[in-house]
Amino acid sequence: MVPSPQSRTRLWTPKHVVVTRSAAERPHAAEIVARCEAAGVGDIDFLRSDRITGLRGDDERATYARAKSTLAVVVSPPSKRKLQPIPPSADWRLDLAEGCPAHCQYCYLAGSLSGPPVTRVYADLDEILAGMDAYVGRGGVTSGTAGRAHEGTTFEASCYTDPLGIEHVTGSLAATIAHAGTHDFGGPVQLRATTKFGGVEPLLGLPHSGRTRIRVSVNAAGVAGRFEGGTDPVAVRLAGLGRLARAGYPAGLTIAPIMPVPGWREEYGALLDAAAAELDGVPGLDLTVECITHRFTPGSREVLTGWYPNTKLEMDPERRSRKFGKYGAVKYVYRREDMAELRTWFDRALAERLPAARALYWT
Ligand code: SF4
Repeated sequence: MVPSPQSRTRLWTPKHVVVTRSAAERPHAAEIVARCEAAGVGDIDFLRSDRITGLRGDDERATYARAKSTLAVVVSPPSKRKLQPIPPSADWRLDLAEGCPAHCQYCYLAGSLSGPPVTRVYADLDEILAGMDAYVGRGGVTSGTAGRAHEGTTFEASCYTDPLGIEHVTGSLAATIAHAGTHDFGGPVQLRATTKFGGVEPLLGLPHSGRTRIRVSVNAAGVAGRFEGGTDPVAVRLAGLGRLARAGYPAGLTIAPIMPVPGWREEYGALLDAAAAELDGVPGLDLTVECITHRFTPGSREVLTGWYPNTKLEMDPERRSRKFGKYGAVKYVYRREDMAELRTWFDRALAERLPAARALYWT
């Protein structure tokens, strides 16, 4: 018998769980601990303080392995309560967790988070959700613009984590979707999340009210197969997206990070065809596409080559253009001519192969 997409889904189970003292007082921590126990985690440690210890091994390799297999249940830092804009994706960044157990060799978190790559999930979920109200109607990326105002005030939940990848031990994404779908915000609101996993079962029956757009992050076979360790295969992600779309969710593809690997036209073409086949016949399909080309910073390159010393990922500053970010930070993107070639091809291929999709941005 062919296994269903759901049964082929990878469900991450941490080896170690640590709960800080402040987190242990919150009801959501009890739910996370119960989920971890049910998943068979034997090592659950209630700390006496809010300092997370015991993440470092004898060398960088051991520290990486220990941190990536640990779930820390913490209270979010006060700075997280003040939401930040996150262009071009959404009006506001809504963090439910920070860190991810997967092993993508280009991971953008490498340049943003410091210290051992542990996954921290926030136990103060009630406060995080209650804080959304104050931001409704105040965004500058979607709600305050002519082109994307119809999306409402958007909250992006996957800036610093893959919320579906940790869902079966946290329950945070389902709670957030249900809140977005049932709470009276006083104006149109959209929750957004993107994932490289396909375990959508817990989301299917939620009262989402069409207010959550889940996108799957997908890539050419030559990128996904080589550089995205610890994630679900692209076919499983697309199957998950199809199930969500059939359950009435607005859906999306995050094609990222786009790389001109050998045979990229054929491989990205096959990817778009597979997405079209998966979404074929979905009643009232609401589909968007976001395209993000590969980039890196000097800092992320250093961290990633430390974590993945044998990586074949191209991160050669000589082959890239330098771009300066908001605070003068350097990032390396593809050269103008390479970018133009990619963009021209994607514009045409998307129009031909996924005509129902609305492109939100290219970067
Ligand atoms: S799934 Fe996303 S957040 Fe997780 S390692 Fe991969 S790129 Fe990083």
